[in-house]
Amino acid sequence: MSFSEVLDQAAATAYLKKSVLGHVPQAMLFCGPSGVGKKKAALEFAKALNCQDFIARQEGDACGVCEHCRSIAAGRYADVVLADFLYQARLELKKEPNDKNYEEELEKELAKQQRIKVDTIRDITAKSQQKSAVGGWKVFIVDEAQSMQAEAANALLKFIEEPPQKTVWILLTDKKASMLKTILSRCQPLQFAPLTQNTVAQLVEQVAPETENAALAAQYGQGSVTRALRSAEALDLLQSAPQGPAWPAAVAAALPRTVVAARQQAQAIMDVLILAVHKAWVKEETPAQRQNLQQILKKLENYKTAVLRNVSPALTVETALMNLDKCQIELFG
Ligand SMILES: [Zn+2]
Repeated sequence: MSFSEVLDQAAATAYLKKSVLGHVPQAMLFCGPSGVGKKKAALEFAKALNCQDFIARQEGDACGVCEHCRSIAAGRYADVVLADFLYQARLELKKEPNDKNYEEELEKELAKQQRIKVDTIRDITAKSQQKSAVGGWKVFIVDEAQSMQAEAANALLKFIEEPPQKTVWILLTDKKASMLKTILSRCQPLQFAPLTQNTVAQLVEQVAPETENAALAAQYGQGSVTRALRSAEALDLLQSAPQGPAWPAAVAAALPRTVVAARQQAQAIMDVLILAVHKAWVKEETPAQRQNLQQILKKLENYKTAVLRNVSPALTVETALMNLDKCQIELFG
């Protein structure tokens, strides 16, 4: 059954199944770290509401194999819309998938996405007003809901307040605290928990089988598949640069060319370093060395903030690694 594929979220999926069988809230807010299955759960919920299999429906679940379930999974079901950065990039590209260089240009457009914009919200709210083609449930999912510009959030408000019959809005966020109170007050919250390390490793192997060390990436993932995948890339970069005195500069030079990508990679490196130093600090028994590690941790936190601002990612990474050099941190074990 479909909901069983949402791992480690028993409380959330139990609530969703119960809703399918009973009362479906007009608007819900799935909160919890990124990479723990919120998007997956929202899509499984959409399937469960529209599944054609009688037996699955009796349990508030989806079969996963009927025509409706399959077309929802493939993003072809007109009544289920997932508005994420990819959806927005497609809208902004204003080109057809058959056009020349479509995939390449879409990737560039996707890399630029930082916030859900008002035009995207207008696009999906217009869709929410159209009559359903099959008469089932219409499900509108807004990813990264905390990133909505104020104008976008305001444009969404009245639609989540009074949706047409058999319409449900699901907002996904990993930063509930940054959302407008007016939006929060209209949504039924549903909390998603971090995943176990084993689950993260298992999912990393599934979605990125080329990952060299899924178990190590899962340790750095802290319950999030997204974070584990980012850590895997960061570890790869740290490991592939030639070791020795020039290591910090070599890592810095290997960062991606575009500023947005370089900044993301630098943040992932900082996260890896912070966790590794923290682990060493917990184990360390010598007071002087503990103090030293604590100071390094403080510095790393500052570098991480600096990367988020306009400081050069390469320069920050190089400086951070030079600091680390003095204290023999085990990054790859
Ligand atoms: Zn089905």
